[in-house]
Amino acid sequence: MSPFETNFDYIILGAGSAGCTLAAMLAEHLPDDRILLLEAGDDIPPDHETVWDPAKWLLISRDRTLEWGYRSVAQPELNDREIQLGRAKALGGCSVHNAMVYVRGGAYGFDRWAQEGCVGWKYDEILPYFKRVEERMHVTQAEADPFIEDLVVACNDMGIPYNPNYNASPHAFGVSPFQFLISQGGRRETTFKSFLGTRRHTNLHITSGVRFDRILFDHERRAVAVEATDLRTQRQVEIHASREILVAAGAIGSPHLLLLSGVGPESQLRDLGIPVVSALPGVGENFQDDLFVTAMFLASKPMPKQPYGLMGAVIFTSTDPSTLPYLTDVECSLASGTMEGLELPPDKRQSYFIYPNLQLLRSRGTIKLASIHPAEHPMIDPRYLEAPEDIQRCIFCIKLARDIGHNQGLANWFAGEILPGPEVQTDAEIEAYIRRTADTCYHYAGTCKMGVDDMAVVTPHLEVRGTQRLRVVDASIIPTTVSGNTAAATMMIAVKGAELVLASRRSA
Ligand SMILES: Cc1cc2nc3c(=O)[nH]c(=O)nc-3n(C[C@H](O)[C@H](O)[C@H](O)COP(=O)(O)OP(=O)(O)OC[C@H]3O[C@@H](n4cnc5c(N)ncnc54)[C@H](O)[C@@H]3O)c2cc1C
Repeated sequence: MSPFETNFDYIILGAGSAGCTLAAMLAEHLPDDRILLLEAGDDIPPDHETVWDPAKWLLISRDRTLEWGYRSVAQPELNDREIQLGRAKALGGCSVHNAMVYVRGGAYGFDRWAQEGCVGWKYDEILPYFKRVEERMHVTQAEADPFIEDLVVACNDMGIPYNPNYNASPHAFGVSPFQFLISQGGRRETTFKSFLGTRRHTNLHITSGVRFDRILFDHERRAVAVEATDLRTQRQVEIHASREILVAAGAIGSPHLLLLSGVGPESQLRDLGIPVVSALPGVGENFQDDLFVTAMFLASKPMPKQPYGLMGAVIFTSTDPSTLPYLTDVECSLASGTMEGLELPPDKRQSYFIYPNLQLLRSRGTIKLASIHPAEHPMIDPRYLEAPEDIQRCIFCIKLARDIGHNQGLANWFAGEILPGPEVQTDAEIEAYIRRTADTCYHYAGTCKMGVDDMAVVTPHLEVRGTQRLRVVDASIIPTTVSGNTAAATMMIAVKGAELVLASRRSA
């Protein structure tokens, strides 16, 4: 970005799943305003070796050049393992390297947000915003193959019905074709490409390679400017916004930025000598994620070739059958051992994996400043499995995956269990296996939660409490995760966020 322009009407901080969506909506509706979209990462070239080919997903998620490189602190309930917490640094954010899975999430979760005071966020009210996302991003429904056909038989045998389209009903219970954000031409859809690629507006300035370090406030606690560093030259600049600053740096980046800017728990800020702008105890609290556990089976014959990042089927069910069909908290994805990036020894490549992803975890973690220097990562402590019921529910997940893998419906494929393995039988043995192997689903949320209680960071209009002209619009505002992955909900939040900004503008 050179030379820097330093005066805008709106500044959007972060060009990820939310930021690009928000930028496109505002640029279209405010043609006379100057909008800046600021991002640390760069654009992905059209010939990038792994990003655009959905079947190479497992390879990109290991590409450190696209990564912020976050790690959790040691997790006592996971045998003191430090978990790598993937987060992309690029125009498009995590839509550039996520698994492309598109799940809106069940009605129950959003209705709960509304019941807890988030007026305007009931499922029926937010459904139109999902549809607006789907007008721009192509959702591909996966094709079945002979393995998937038998998987459906196995699930039916276990009382899990076939659901032809989990996004078309308010609850997802069943075994379904997976839906992916993949174009008709078979390429990954990213928010940057889909929302901004072909519709560049002259009023929208997109600046990459710049790290935003702090938000600056005037004496009335109005957010008026951003302090940022050009990562190529290390030059620092101050960029001014005359109307609003919209933070879309994600569930790790957004609380980090607010804390550096003096918005957060008072004692944490004072201990580091940061002047307090708004004392909000909830900033960086309420960290939520989903966890996945793994079952693996040897196949008796070659598995069908997989054109997606995961197998083309998904199973939604519940750890508590009494909640079905309305509330699911387990989403099983599957993979075949021949998929690129799994790097298995030759005798284990003819195999299939079942990955139950446990959602609605009761455990809550934190993000705290490690230092006042913006380049230093914050301390991230997800506190995985701290709530005792979470480990019990993970044990249920392993048993479920085993029951599916061993079911008669898959008898044509089954040639033995590899993981957890025949030696793991009692609940205590399964628990020990989970503590050794459970891993993040990358669905971080909740660290700048929306609400009306004392721990809320933003109001249901996404305004940061105790400040003016400042909103957060990304996955961090999710008060409680819903039954599904987080990308669809995050883009929905951005479409609704844009509408809230436009409504304020009209009433100003
Ligand atoms: C490996 C992986 C696989 C996943 N798979 C799926 C999936 O298949 N389906 C699904 O629904 N969800 C998936 N997710 C989760 C989903 O992608 C995220 O929840 C969603 O993208 C979050 O969007 P966001 O806008 O909140 O944050 P992001 O998309 O992370 O955007 C934040 C942006 O802000 C930028 N930024 C942050 N701090 C700064 C700073 N200080 N200066 C400058 N720029 C900054 C970042 O570089 C980034 O571009 C996956 C995530 C990962 C990491």
